[in-house]
Amino acid sequence: AAKQAGRNQFQEFDAAQERALRHTRAQVVQLREALATGQFELYLQPKVDMRLGTVVGAEALARWNHPERGVLSPAAFLPLIEGTELDTQFGTWVVQSGLALIERLADSGLPLPVSINIAAPHLQQCGFAEWMGGEVAAHPQVPAHLLDIEITETAQLLDIENVALTLQKLRALGITISLDDFGTGYSSLTYLRGLPLNTLKIDQSFVGGMLAEAGDLAIVQGVIGLARSFGYRVIAEGVETEDQGLMLLQMGCAQAQGYFIARPMPVAQFLGWAASWQAPAAWQP
Ligand code: C2E
Ligand code: MG
Ligand code: MG
Ligand code: MG
Repeated sequence: AAKQAGRNQFQEFDAAQERALRHTRAQVVQLREALATGQFELYLQPKVDMRLGTVVGAEALARWNHPERGVLSPAAFLPLIEGTELDTQFGTWVVQSGLALIERLADSGLPLPVSINIAAPHLQQCGFAEWMGGEVAAHPQVPAHLLDIEITETAQLLDIENVALTLQKLRALGITISLDDFGTGYSSLTYLRGLPLNTLKIDQSFVGGMLAEAGDLAIVQGVIGLARSFGYRVIAEGVETEDQGLMLLQMGCAQAQGYFIARPMPVAQFLGWAASWQAPAAWQP
């Protein structure tokens, strides 16, 4: 009887696995279809200077306008893309859409830098920088210095020297580089030492914790100090309260991004938002 039960368990497990696999395959097909039919959209989240009360740029964040499930966040679809042949296709869409967004903003009188997120495997593809050069050249109206690339330190950044070489080529094109989620990876300082960067992004987990946890505050302060030592810009992610912004200002970090300032939004909405945003009085010197 026990043997019988064991076999049934295995059968159930196999059936569940197979269902999950078929589900995933169906989703990959759906994703490919979604890319082909324009169901993806880049939202923009503002980056501001809290002291000057100015909008200094925006981060482009992917959304899937799913015909049945509504607007989906990357957490719902990036895991299905990563490691599949859709990786490059999606990355290509992000780059081309990002350049189109910069053009759209500039045409609307807002020539702001826009950051796009590039996954490590895409960045490390052979010839990535040369390909980017072609994309930038295909948008002659877009000055390359308005394009910023956010990379996340991850175990997938295997070969730092090679990545550094790619980043140097990108910078030679005029593109700037931000290190995203700084401090959350395993070898933050090694990346800092080895990569040519322009900006460090303080991860939102530290910003979210810094008013309650002395350790988080120390890390935020440390990252601000590191950025200063390297001559890099620094921006705080995940500012959700006025007080967090104030604390960052007191520590010498004026640039910020977060729900307290604005959530990611479609470009049309962003244009209206940028025209009317005012920093809270508490942030003014
Ligand atoms: P990320 O690049 O670190 O982006 C910041 C994430 O934090 C975004 O989530 C943003 O909506 C969210 N966020 C911003 N301010 C706040 C805040 O004050 N509080 C909280 N709790 N969250 C805040 P989102 O849009 O869901 O994106 C998640 C991640 O997905 C991104 O993290 C990025 O790693 C990835 N991603 C998004 N778009 C793309 C893309 O086009 N290409 C690639 N390769 N990855 C992308
Ligand atoms: Mg990012
Ligand atoms: Mg981040
Ligand atoms: Mg993140």
